[in-house]
Amino acid sequence: MKRKIVILPGDGIGKEVTTEGKKVLQKIAEIFDHQFDFEESIIGHDAIEASGNPLPDETIVQLKNCDAILFGAVGHPKYDNDPTLKVRPEQGLLKMRKELGLYANLRPIKLFDELLEASSIKAEILKGSDILFFRELTGDVYFGEKGRKDDGNTAYDLMIYQRYEIERIAHKAFLAARTRRRKVTSVDKANVLESSRLWRQVVTEIAKNYPDVELDHQFVDSAAMKLIQNPRSFDVVLTGNLFGDILTDEASQIAGSMGMLASASVGDSVGLYEPIHGSAHDITGKGIANPLASILSASLLLDISFGLKEESELIIKAIEATLKSGYRTVDIADSKTSKDKILNTSTMGSFVVSQLEKIPVVNYFNS
Ligand code: NAD
Repeated sequence: MKRKIVILPGDGIGKEVTTEGKKVLQKIAEIFDHQFDFEESIIGHDAIEASGNPLPDETIVQLKNCDAILFGAVGHPKYDNDPTLKVRPEQGLLKMRKELGLYANLRPIKLFDELLEASSIKAEILKGSDILFFRELTGDVYFGEKGRKDDGNTAYDLMIYQRYEIERIAHKAFLAARTRRRKVTSVDKANVLESSRLWRQVVTEIAKNYPDVELDHQFVDSAAMKLIQNPRSFDVVLTGNLFGDILTDEASQIAGSMGMLASASVGDSVGLYEPIHGSAHDITGKGIANPLASILSASLLLDISFGLKEESELIIKAIEATLKSGYRTVDIADSKTSKDKILNTSTMGSFVVSQLEKIPVVNYFNS
């Protein structure tokens, strides 16, 4: 298979982890005899420094003319510490989602058994958790009208949803549930928010097309509690942009660390794959960022955009083998044991690559 992949490292640890995701994709191409052509592009703080624009036109052209995108993260302390700056890295990310019509963000929350002890949640509560989030990406408070009143002391961000935005992501969530445990939990705040009442109404209507899938509705505050209390009770979670943003960070604790969660953003055209974490200024440049979320993003890319299921699964097996051998980055090391062998960002990526070669492909296909 011949495909063009744009690598969009972005800022901070985005650069460090996408290097490892790319390494894995290169090895997969070698093992399975595919031709992946890589191009690199800029977004975020780097792009502002280079051109004054967090998403330059040249980047948009590159993104629209490739088969898939592996993205890192955007963000820089300069902007976090100065809210008055008008041009900001995150604007590049929001614009990219709009430009590419990426309206559905899929976030699988799957716990590797080897990391049961790495989470702050008890192992017996976590074991067997397997949740797939569908977070809406192009509506909500992020895109509604925002501003300040003249006196500067009143600010607003309009929470807004349109029927078609809810319908298209609801269909995706119900279709995915059919390939899993056939349950969709729709999360909203319909007791107080009108946009949530529309959300609930539309999701209920769409559910009629999928009588084989169970639908339940939860308020976001209760869902946040139940995620930690009984994560196994969730299969597919369907929610809006803001609630999805917060709940998936919470759910990262089920998987042990922010550094373990990948996501896929899909919609009308090319798919974009990225870790759920940000640019993590606190650890940038230290070589300790966990690259597994980026490597898992590469696995999702192969599966969803290219339909390469065996290749995608091989990456998961290589990560399992790595963790089984006791190798960890610091964020997932078990503080209670000294058995873990600590790797840095680059050596973790290389170790996963070495496992890809070791798992016999012929056995793997037969398993
Ligand atoms: P963050 O996700 O960058 O970091 C949160 C915490 O998790 C930090 O302590 C960090 O060290 C840790 N962490 C994150 N990824 C890790 C990894 N791979 N390995 C080990 N530890 C990891 O969130 P934040 O600190 O709130 O934000 C930092 C910057 O990132 C901000 O500028 C923010 O705007 C930006 N951000 C960008 C995105 C994105 O590009 N999609 C998402 C979230 C935040």
